[in-house]
Amino acid sequence: MSAPVLPGYRHFYSGKVRDLYAPEDGSHRLLLVASDRISAYDYILSSTIPDKGRILTAMSLWWFEQVADVLPNHVVSTTVPSAVSGRAVLVERLEMVPVECIARGYLAGSGLVEYRKAGAICGIGLPPGLENGSRLDEAIFTPTTKAAIGEHDENMDFPEVERLLGADLAATLRRLTLEVYTRGESIARDRGIILADTKVEFGLRDDGTVVLADEVLTPDSSRFWPLDSWHPGQSQPSFDKQFVRDWLASPAADWDRSAGTPPPELPDEIVERTRQRYVDAYERLTGNKF
Ligand code: ATP
Ligand code: MG
Repeated sequence: MSAPVLPGYRHFYSGKVRDLYAPEDGSHRLLLVASDRISAYDYILSSTIPDKGRILTAMSLWWFEQVADVLPNHVVSTTVPSAVSGRAVLVERLEMVPVECIARGYLAGSGLVEYRKAGAICGIGLPPGLENGSRLDEAIFTPTTKAAIGEHDENMDFPEVERLLGADLAATLRRLTLEVYTRGESIARDRGIILADTKVEFGLRDDGTVVLADEVLTPDSSRFWPLDSWHPGQSQPSFDKQFVRDWLASPAADWDRSAGTPPPELPDEIVERTRQRYVDAYERLTGNKF
């Protein structure tokens, strides 16, 4: 699925999921269009998930409201060209902070791998005996580098973030990341969803103000687990991309990740079940029908 042509806008960048456009009126804005593309294991899959772009856009807009008192966000308007209606937002064009700001309240994924190796994540020591899916006593800030498409993000410890961004900005981003996560975790918990971790992206205005950008607290940027089936000590059922990752890792996919070949196309059934997970997450969280 390539980026659509939109009169009045110039396409200038496509990430794994979003297509970015600059308005031709020269304003300091950006049209951020969420596609139905899905990425896993650092690949953009050849299959798309119908409605995913609209679901993620609606969910991010909902979350921006929920955390509006924590910090400003980049949204300017949801009036967008009809060809991309529902899956695009006009936003402030910001200078993006070159660090992926991750908060974790539970142990999973690459955090679990590093904990098992080092007893710590990003230099933060954790108590022994934690399992896959364990809740941490306190959420932790585990930043990574922002790698180019096809490359892996690398964990950073806090002093590295300070060296890169300066001590003040580093401290601000850590505080804001943990506040956004903690707020999100508590709202989601009330609705039967565990928000295990999340990645937040921040941008800076010309005057240095830190603004919440990109998408926020979606199943693409976070791990969402149903609260009622949470059992530490195993991998958790989820509303997020884990379902697709698990299928790709299963014998049915017949795909060897280490061989360097792109992943296979998803069967229709996996596409439909993935779509349903995104819809379920949206409906449970917001209480709105998709
Ligand atoms: P991933 O989200 O998995 O890291 P990606 O980085 O390729 O993948 P996309 O979501 O596909 O991300 O693309 C969105 C791009 O737009 C990102 O590079 C993001 O940093 C950038 N972006 C988001 N909001 C803004 C903004 N307000 N100003 C400038 N750039 C932004
Ligand atoms: Mg992104």
